[in-house]
Amino acid sequence: MSELADNYHRVQARIAAAAQRTGRDPADIILVAVSKSQPLAKVQALFQQTGHQHYGENRVPEGSDKVQAAQHFDPAGATRWHFIGNIQRRKVEAIIANFAMVHAVDRLSIAQRLSRKAQALNRELAVLIECNVSGEASKAGLPAGRWATDEAQWAALTATIAAIVGLPGLQVKGLMTMAPIVSVPEEARPIFVALRQLRDRLAQQFPQVGWEHLSMGMTNDFEVAVEEGATMVRVGRAIFGERLPN
Ligand SMILES: *Cc1c(COP(=O)(O)O)cnc(C)c1O
Repeated sequence: MSELADNYHRVQARIAAAAQRTGRDPADIILVAVSKSQPLAKVQALFQQTGHQHYGENRVPEGSDKVQAAQHFDPAGATRWHFIGNIQRRKVEAIIANFAMVHAVDRLSIAQRLSRKAQALNRELAVLIECNVSGEASKAGLPAGRWATDEAQWAALTATIAAIVGLPGLQVKGLMTMAPIVSVPEEARPIFVALRQLRDRLAQQFPQVGWEHLSMGMTNDFEVAVEEGATMVRVGRAIFGERLPN
């Protein structure tokens, strides 16, 4: 087996083991193979050797080029591309044209723009709302570090989310977060717990929304994320190896 396929199967086995430790069905967890800064040849190799369908990109030009080029080795369109990066206003059309899901909707204005363009392109776009549950000022996402105790934060958060879930053309599927970089995976656990608890609370508040997805966990901490309820883990380096600096 190739090293790439070997890495991939090891990550899937670790996901399955983490799921089983907590009584979850491994089939409920989607591995998003983060192929950013990696050559398309690696995506092609992984797809052809394993049939893996879900890929994640964080830059629009690079990601769109890969999505288009992937049609040559995936003419049936089996691959599903996730946009996991920061969303720039002028890139919204290209994102909608190329990606099946957008993970990091972190402000109302960008959700409104996604909604308008999705309607114009006759698309229903699956989105996740990025929440900053760590409270770190440097992190993207709707402020959600103190929602359980801070009424003003809860009011602001739920007002924004109410507006987003009401937008036509968008299907809110759940939440996404970026955990802080930690030296020990265990240190990320409280962040994943916080995102799950926030999701459970939002599901009470907005029962009309399907809150089925929690996108959390990366190479360093995906097993902890799975133990805490992740349904999508975004894993790059453990599959593809180190990225080239860019
Ligand atoms: C790069 C990236 C990942 C994957 O990181 P690895 O450490 O390579 O697993 C996951 N999520 C986002 C948003 C990223 O930008």
